[in-house]
Amino acid sequence: MATSSGAPAPRGLLAIFAHPDDESYGAGGVMAMAAGAGNPVWVLCATNGDQGGRPGEVNVDHSLDPEIRRRELACACEALGVAEPIFLGYRDSGMEGWGAPEGSLSLAPVGEAVDRVAEVIRRLRPAVIVTFDPGGVYGHPDHVACSTIATAAYYRTAAEPGGPVALYHQALPKSAIKAMREAMEQERGSQADAAPPSEDDIRQQEAFERLARPDEEITTRVAIGPILERKVAALACHDSQMRGRRWDDPETRAQLERMFGWETFVRVDPPLPPGQTEDRFTALAWPSL
Ligand SMILES: [Zn+2]
Repeated sequence: MATSSGAPAPRGLLAIFAHPDDESYGAGGVMAMAAGAGNPVWVLCATNGDQGGRPGEVNVDHSLDPEIRRRELACACEALGVAEPIFLGYRDSGMEGWGAPEGSLSLAPVGEAVDRVAEVIRRLRPAVIVTFDPGGVYGHPDHVACSTIATAAYYRTAAEPGGPVALYHQALPKSAIKAMREAMEQERGSQADAAPPSEDDIRQQEAFERLARPDEEITTRVAIGPILERKVAALACHDSQMRGRRWDDPETRAQLERMFGWETFVRVDPPLPPGQTEDRFTALAWPSL
């Protein structure tokens, strides 16, 4: 297929996220479904996730061998049935207040980062780009930077022959955050010896609640039940982030089914008419469900 300009038509989906595991949480179901329907699917990961050691702990060294997280993302991509991950190689900025290290994504010159992402888009020619919404779901500095950079790279390449045709922002509705909080409170209530939440956890939960989108702003809700096993398998690959738990434990699994039956997005471009919603990415070929 070619566009009217003679350029090859774009196809498939490119997910652009900040750290290994963002892709599986935010869009793993959509990626697995798109790949299962025969669409090429890629993950572009902006950082190595090298500040992902000892998540949730405060006043500790959070550095982690980047090779561990690169391997975990490769494992997740295999579980989702998508292509091997592509890394931009920026350092992880760490959570807000930790002090971003030199070479981290949140300190990178935006123009240079946009150039690099645009080059990847031109090489792969995806039809659909998925990235974080502007608040980065919970405000992580790398998530916010990733949204800005990927969105700018989309608009630049969408204006070129054969460029991408749709941009989605991964976003959580207020109702999902409320359900998440209730599930966490229930879990904590059932474990008398559970450690209290850390300062980072409390700050993160507050940010989730503040930055969640009103439900009516969510344009695209995709039911991922048919491929939930793949999402669970992909999440289980990110073992360094699990604080000793596993997503495939029966109890954690039940929690996941309550929280993760849907993936939610705002279709940014082309915008849907006001009040209209969709249950899949319309620029992609999908299986009949
Ligand atoms: Zn992240």
